[in-house]
Amino acid sequence: MTTAVPIPPLVTVPVVGGLPFPVRRIYCVGRNYEAHAREMGFEVDREEPFFFLKPADAIEPDGAVIPYPRMTGNYHFEVELVVAIGKGGSEIPVADARAHVFGYAVGLDMTRRDLQIAAREKGRPWDMGKAFDRSAPCGDLVTAAEARGIETAAIRLDVNGTVRQQSTIGHLVWSIDEIIHWLSRYVDLVPGDLIYTGTPEGVGAVVAGDVLVATVDGLPPLTVSIA
Ligand code: MN
Repeated sequence: MTTAVPIPPLVTVPVVGGLPFPVRRIYCVGRNYEAHAREMGFEVDREEPFFFLKPADAIEPDGAVIPYPRMTGNYHFEVELVVAIGKGGSEIPVADARAHVFGYAVGLDMTRRDLQIAAREKGRPWDMGKAFDRSAPCGDLVTAAEARGIETAAIRLDVNGTVRQQSTIGHLVWSIDEIIHWLSRYVDLVPGDLIYTGTPEGVGAVVAGDVLVATVDGLPPLTVSIA
């Protein structure tokens, strides 16, 4: 097809032992670990989870060197389990949710915390704090069949060899199945969607020169350097 401007490249995430996974949308869950909600000044809301989005082209692969972003002085890491949707659906019952999962990866919900909090306090959308360029590094995907025990796997983030975040997926406030259920009430889930499931406590700032290593047991690690 001839187009008015060049067609943007398709964003994909590598799959261990398989074909690349094409990314359609990136959904993120807010405040999904109790200790992180508290460090951000909130109590956990068990009424209903909330979601925000990042653009698909915010993905960066394992090994990426990411320039320190513009318009911030407080650039934060958030290590998260990423769920990849392989089968679409809407209003998916909790009991059926797992059948919609293609696989899992470890991701980073990189955040311009100063912009996010300023927007929050003014009652404005926080997109410029969350949904900016290169804000969604994602490691290689492992298929659901091969990622056994993910519900209780350890999740961790090291910066320059020091542990900064450490928890387990078992501490999710809203489980993987509940997230898929709730999100699919609001929007149609489609193969190619990714869900960043929230971060545990210990979020903090990075500076140029830092090396981040994000891990979830059973998944390939994700290493990102800040330039
Ligand atoms: Mn997050």
